Amino acid sequence: MNEIKKIAILGSTGSIGTQALEIAREQKDRIQIEVLTANSNADLLIAQAKEFNPNHVVIADENKYLQVKEALANDDIKVFAGNKSIADVMEITSADTVLTAMVGYSGLLPTIKAIQNKKRIALANKETLVVAGELITEMCQENRVSLIPVDSEHSAIFQCLVGEDLNTIDKIILTASGGPFRGKKRSDLAEVTKAQALKHPNWNMGAKITIDSATLMNKGLEVIEAKWLFGLNGSQIEAVVHPQSIIHSMVEFNDGSIKAQMGLPDMKLPIHYAFFYPERVNTNFKRMSFKEVNMLTFEEPDKDTFRNLALAYQAMNNGGNMACILNAANEIAVEAFLKDKIKFLQIAELNEKCMQKVNFIQKPSLQDYIETDAETRKVAASLV
Ligand code: NDP
Ligand code: MG
Repeated sequence: MNEIKKIAILGSTGSIGTQALEIAREQKDRIQIEVLTANSNADLLIAQAKEFNPNHVVIADENKYLQVKEALANDDIKVFAGNKSIADVMEITSADTVLTAMVGYSGLLPTIKAIQNKKRIALANKETLVVAGELITEMCQENRVSLIPVDSEHSAIFQCLVGEDLNTIDKIILTASGGPFRGKKRSDLAEVTKAQALKHPNWNMGAKITIDSATLMNKGLEVIEAKWLFGLNGSQIEAVVHPQSIIHSMVEFNDGSIKAQMGLPDMKLPIHYAFFYPERVNTNFKRMSFKEVNMLTFEEPDKDTFRNLALAYQAMNNGGNMACILNAANEIAVEAFLKDKIKFLQIAELNEKCMQKVNFIQKPSLQDYIETDAETRKVAASLV
């Protein structure tokens, strides 16, 4: 059984990417790294390439090409640069699994190329399904490609569904930590700083998703992600705040039975599960003890204070390109917040304005999604 997994990691220098490489390091006999990519962190990409010896390395930032190329001149590694190359390398790699761990919309086109080339997708980049969930799920069906979730909530649901008939799901319950501002009201949030927003209580993640967790946009994106992954309608997807982040999510079946998946908050577990699914492979990860975790609590999310969660439900129910609009607006808003150009509460305001202003398309093509993303970024930038 012990077949070797040939893995491409898109976004290897990030939070998910580096944790995936820790797994590859621990499972040397089972995992072979085929592709590594980064946006601009050439130094780390070079060090990773030297250690894992992939066949292909891509740096999106073309100004860093020579640095990477020269550093790897004596290694048997092909080096490419530019965003398009990240997608193109999906045509030539012999990887069987692609971990999509880039941030935001940048994951869309490489994921599409990977699906067209029949790669199994370990999906961390939730924005791909938010932007173009309908198109991506259709493509996966056509190409008989499976999408294995890496996002901890969706991995939990996926694990709860092993051996179950999807038609027996009544609803799923996504848990949310609540982020650093849990329990706060709008008036408390008017002046919060990016340093406060970047301090997540339970998870150590990239900057964009950490801000999304503070605004509850992350939970909103995950609601939409779940709709496409599990073929549900909006009324079947609930979010509940669970500050301890021990239950990663739950499924309620038609007989009233509820299954939950639990563990310590550690992304290595869902990454590891996605790499080896359907096999469960031994790990030495720290184990949870019910003696240490003596209380699990639950609260209703406050959608009035954290408007982004309500906007995500609205976008999901509108369908068409609305979630693509919300995603692009949010990427610009988060970037502006991180550059101190807008305040925390303005993130959701900007998102809502873009949803009202950008042209709605009921049945978008890939080209429509590309244009919607570009158009929304322009509108959002004009509002900053
Ligand atoms: P990070 O910001 O830590 O890392 C992002 C990675 O993608 C880096 O390798 C970065 O390169 C690369 N990258 C960023 N922008 C681009 C671009 N425009 N073109 C090409 N490459 C790019 O992000 P995370 O690891 O936190 O998140 C990755 C994805 O996984 C996101 O979609 C997130 O929502 C999802 N996710 C993350 C979780 C987490 O715990 N971190 C949990 C669940 C989901 P460089 O280093 O050069 O900038
Ligand atoms: Mg998550």
